[in-house]
Formats: sequence, structure tokens, C-alpha cells
Amino acid sequence: MSNICFDVISLLPNSFKVLNDMGVISRAIKKKLISINTYDLRDYGEGSYKQVDDVPYGGGSGMVLKPEPIYKAYESIKKSKNKRTLLMSPQGQVIKQKDFVRWSSYDQLIIICGQYEGFDERVRKLADEEVSIGDYVLTGGEIPAITIINGISRLMPGTLGDPDSLKDESHNSQYLEYPHYTRPSSFRGMNVPSILLSGNHKEIKIWRNDEKIRRTLDRRQDLICLEDFKKSPVSKRINKEYNNLMRFRIGNGYDIHRLKKGRDLIIGGIKLEHPNNLGLDGHSDADVLSHSIMDALLGALSLGDIGKYFPPTDEKWKDADSLILLSKVVELIKNKGWFINNIDSVIVAERPKFLPHIDSMKDNISRVINLEKDLIGIKATTNETLGPEGREEGISCHSVVLLEKE
Ligand code: SAH
Repeated sequence: MSNICFDVISLLPNSFKVLNDMGVISRAIKKKLISINTYDLRDYGEGSYKQVDDVPYGGGSGMVLKPEPIYKAYESIKKSKNKRTLLMSPQGQVIKQKDFVRWSSYDQLIIICGQYEGFDERVRKLADEEVSIGDYVLTGGEIPAITIINGISRLMPGTLGDPDSLKDESHNSQYLEYPHYTRPSSFRGMNVPSILLSGNHKEIKIWRNDEKIRRTLDRRQDLICLEDFKKSPVSKRINKEYNNLMRFRIGNGYDIHRLKKGRDLIIGGIKLEHPNNLGLDGHSDADVLSHSIMDALLGALSLGDIGKYFPPTDEKWKDADSLILLSKVVELIKNKGWFINNIDSVIVAERPKFLPHIDSMKDNISRVINLEKDLIGIKATTNETLGPEGREEGISCHSVVLLEKE
């Protein structure tokens, strides 16, 4: 008896002959490691025309496989105790390597293939699992069934010449496989990495492990479970690439400016009136809100602080409109491939009253950084007369931003 038996219900049973001609699979059939039986749906059709399909109730294009022939074919199959029934359908769960591993432990897999527009909904009752081979639509379930038979068969002991070749391969772990080379060592100017020729097996193992991870980072980041990645022994080089995986970065910014007579009080691009005619002192317009947002943006990407980009020693920035500086920082962030998810700021000032102006400040920031207003939080609080803000020596502002990779 074979290790696993595939019983396939199909309107095109001849399609499965291809498996007899498929290298290791045909050898597995010959060695009776697997067996494949097909059940021609036509044999179970209705009436003298052996009808298997019909028009859909409610109208619409195409034909639908009738339930009776499929049920009859299904019932004619001798069942093993340890069996599983798979229904081929683009609406099923998309299969992964781990499904092949799981199914390989059954003695019998019954596979039902659809055709045309698909099958009558009541056919679904027969299946333990509805299975798709990918997010696309084929004309019938035969190619998906052949795919599944192929994938499971190569896992059956004795099918592959070298069972060790299953260990390292792509999709067996969360990583894709490392690159392979064979002779010659130099081919049309393309050389085999020298490490593979070194004979140093310890180094080769490290190199292969790094390459597995690097490949997966390059091609299929979606496969990587970040938690596991953090625990895995990886070289510094890979760790750096891991940082590039981060889709989100958070930034924190803070600024304080002195209150002084004879200066304007500009916050969030809005000119406010202080009861004692105080304004904020600084090289630019000293807009603490814009400054703290800029610092948070730069901080999120480890790009330093605003002093680095707009040094107070530079005459160009004297009395500069900080909203313009902010727009330059946003441009920089954008050019690095990031966009702003949201911002939250808190201004610490004893006076004047901020509430009437918050909305206009949001308007300004929203326009400059091109972010919806409800993704910008601006709050103001007093310092309960404590500290420099409380004594009205200055006004400060704290901001946090969340950046997301484009
Ligand atoms: N109208 C159906 C698709 C019918 S395709 C729908 O939208 O869901 C005809 C048959 O091909 C299906 O019944 C199924 O057995 C098979 N098939 C097509 N694409 C498939 C896929 N990606 N995975 C598994 N089976 C598929």
C-alpha cells in the first residue's frame, strides 16, 4: 500500500497523466510511495447525456457544476479513516508550505476540482477545507490539484533522493533559501562568492544564514516575523538592514524661547497678543510650536535637530518665518521616503489664552505639512505658575510625531 493516496474528482481526469511524467513524482508513483486515482465526473452525470452542469438559478453567465454528480462520485470513493477532503476554489485559503506538511500526514486526500463558473454551493458541504493556490482564477481545479499532489508527494519519505534537501529550503522556515552556485566558479564574468570556495564550513554557515535573511528582507518582508527575527543570531550587517524594515518611526521634539518686550508672539504661524506685550525672543520668529514639530520630525529619522539645518549663526534665517522652515523639514522627510501619520503638540504658557487660536494654528500647520487637520493635535496648558513658563520667563512646546514609510 502507498503512503498516501490521492482520489481526485474531475471533469478532465486525463490532465493528471502529466504526473506520470514528472520526474521524482513519477518515480514515487512507480515505487508506490503515492497513488493517484481519478474519478471522471462525466461517469456520474445525469441522464443519457451524462449532464454534469446547468445554468445558474437567478440568471447570469456561465455554467455551474451540478451537486448530484459530485456527491455521487464522492460517495463512490472508498474512504480511509485518516482522510481529508479538499475543494479547489479561488475563494479558499491560499496554501502555504506548512499546509503540504500538514496534509502529508493523512493516508488519503480526496480532491474535488471545479470547472466553468464553479460548483453548486451545496458541494462545499463535502469539503474539510476549501483551498486556493493563489489570488487568481484558472479555468478548472486540475492545475491546483496537480500543484497540491506535487507539493505533498515530494515530502513523502523516499520520494526525494536526498531528504536533507528539504531542511533548508524556502518556506520551510520564515526565510527564503540562500543562493546556490555550482561549477564553474567563474562564468561569463560572474564569480562564485569566495567564501563558498574557502572550505571554511563555519564561515559558510554564517554567510548562508545571513544571505537567507538578506534575501527575505529584499524580496519578501511579509514572511518575516519581527519577534523571531530579533531573537535570531544575525550579523551586524543584517541587523542594520533590519532597521530598514521598520515601517513606523516615532519622534519627540521640545523647544523653549524667552519672553521679551519688543518682540512678536508668534505660535503656529499665528500672531498672538500678550497682556504684558511680551513676545518670543530668538534668531528666527521663535515659533516654539513649529520648532518642536521640526525637532520631532528630524528626531524620528535620527537626522539631528533644527540647529543643524538652520543654524542661528546663519543670517539667512534671521527673523525667518518658522512655517517655511517647517515646510523644508517636511520636504526632507518626504525625500527620505517617509510621510507623517499624525502629530501631537502641547504648548506650555501661562498667558495669553490659546483656545481661541488653536483652530487657526491647526489650519496653518495642516497647510504647510499637507496633513489633515484632525491628524494634528495642538493643546495648551499652563504651568500652574511654576517654573520658567509659570513665571512667564518663556513659553515652551513639546511635540511627538509618528512617521510611516511610503
Ligand atoms: N466563478 C468562480 C471561479 C470559477 S473557476 C469564483 O469566482 O469563485 C473554475 C474552477 O477552477 C473553480 O471552481 C476551482 O475549482 C478552480 N480554480 C480556479 N482558480 C483557482 C485557484 N486560484 N485555486 C484553486 N482552484 C481554482
